[in-house]
Amino acid sequence: MSRSSHAKIVEADVVIVGGGPAGITAAIAAGRQGVRTILVERYGFVGGMSTAAMVYPWMTFHTDSGEQVIKGIAQEIVDRLQERGGSPGHLRDTVGFVHTLTPYHPEVYQVVATDMLREAGVKLLLHSFVDGVEMTDNTICAVRITNKSGRTELRAKVFVDTSGDADVAHLSGAETVQGRDGDRQSQPMTMKFRMRGVDLAKVKDYMQQHPEDFYEKTPVDQLSDIPLTGVSGFYSHWKKANVPVNRDQVLFFTGPAEDEVLINCTRVQGLDATNAEDLTRAEQEGRKQVLMIAEFLQRDVPGFEKASISAVAPQIGIRESRRIVGHYALAKEDVIAGRKFDDVIARSGYPIDIHDPSGKGVVAAFIAGDGAYDIPYRCLISCNVRNLLAAGRCISTTHEALATTRLTPSCMATGQAAGTAAALSVLLEAEPLLVPVDRLQEELRKEKAAI
Ligand SMILES: Cc1cc2nc3c(=O)[nH]c(=O)nc-3n(C[C@H](O)[C@H](O)[C@H](O)COP(=O)(O)OP(=O)(O)OC[C@H]3O[C@@H](n4cnc5c(N)ncnc54)[C@H](O)[C@@H]3O)c2cc1C
Repeated sequence: MSRSSHAKIVEADVVIVGGGPAGITAAIAAGRQGVRTILVERYGFVGGMSTAAMVYPWMTFHTDSGEQVIKGIAQEIVDRLQERGGSPGHLRDTVGFVHTLTPYHPEVYQVVATDMLREAGVKLLLHSFVDGVEMTDNTICAVRITNKSGRTELRAKVFVDTSGDADVAHLSGAETVQGRDGDRQSQPMTMKFRMRGVDLAKVKDYMQQHPEDFYEKTPVDQLSDIPLTGVSGFYSHWKKANVPVNRDQVLFFTGPAEDEVLINCTRVQGLDATNAEDLTRAEQEGRKQVLMIAEFLQRDVPGFEKASISAVAPQIGIRESRRIVGHYALAKEDVIAGRKFDDVIARSGYPIDIHDPSGKGVVAAFIAGDGAYDIPYRCLISCNVRNLLAAGRCISTTHEALATTRLTPSCMATGQAAGTAAALSVLLEAEPLLVPVDRLQEELRKEKAAI
């Protein structure tokens, strides 16, 4: 037998796969409960889409009327960022789509997140890709990772899938689904990029002179009093330029530097983010679109005359891929009715926001009632693998409901819940489905979750 075929074995109580927003908060929550927790991440840094795909800013911690419905570890992260000058906190969204958005500095975020993981006693393993699982009956015994040390089996009692793509679920044979009903098409991928040297005073001035060229909810009359945080529009410029990208507007957000913006305009449709060949095409197409859009902005958009590209995301942003089939699938009707559930473990005030899988636009649906909907614990529990929980982008929802639960603050909130539930499952020696919900909710409230 060759050296490489001997897998090293490491024992833990909880193994969490994927160090994005959901995995970070899941690991902190589990670690704080005192169970042996390992967080595995394929890249050399944490943050998931926030760092690897430059997703920015975080939206949203609040309802439309300004009630904060996501707190807990997510808010602690924002507080720690603010202490280190890495975020101004929650600001009004000048796109007008939501009440607040939360800018942050991605480099400070990575350090804050790893500090918090260390303080919670979490063992973090970077540069480690999960590519297999060991099963007994319908229970995961171990996940297999490959890294520079070779192959390792991470054994644990409970596993949390925060890979975004539900990789652990898929590898374990847990039921998963992908995309919308019927054609399985997912929301488009987007290659994000930053530009510096933008004259934001000029952008603001243009918006005040031409409000009709911007999203109808843009608070143009307030722009003199609040910082410009986001811009959605320049419809006429976009239409006239005829850039070969299938969308209908320019969308960007300001910061973290004063003359800097993060541009969310590229759109790669019809490709499957769980297929390596499709992903390869998406990365290449995304980068081509970045150059075309940057040239358009410099040439045609007021305020961008002296701007230049300062960063392109290391990987294309993936809005949607696989998700688990859980004991409940959150649906569009639940979201827009602002439905409440007895087994609530997180809330969100972000509307449904579907970037069309095949068309140009974005389909939005807003939340009625008090402006927030509940996410039930059952959405986090695999329906057929007994010791598997999911959090973040790959929880159990419909295609439409995913278009709100996938937002970063919501992923942080479901992450905290999944990590807490995984730890309780170990401590109470009960599989996740049998963890008493009132006990889980009590622990979440102790850690300041807004449920
Ligand atoms: C284009 C785009 C725009 C967006 N805009 C916004 C926005 O403006 N505001 C906002 O709040 N949210 C936005 N989002 C949503 C948000 O960024 C993501 O949905 C969120 O990051 C999902 O968090 P997650 O932790 O579930 O997964 P991810 O962030 O995808 O993290 C998953 C982690 O798992 C790791 N991983 C994956 N597979 C494996 C494996 N097999 N082994 C080991 N590690 C693995 C990955 O490297 C990654 O670090 C946007 C997303 C996209 C793509």
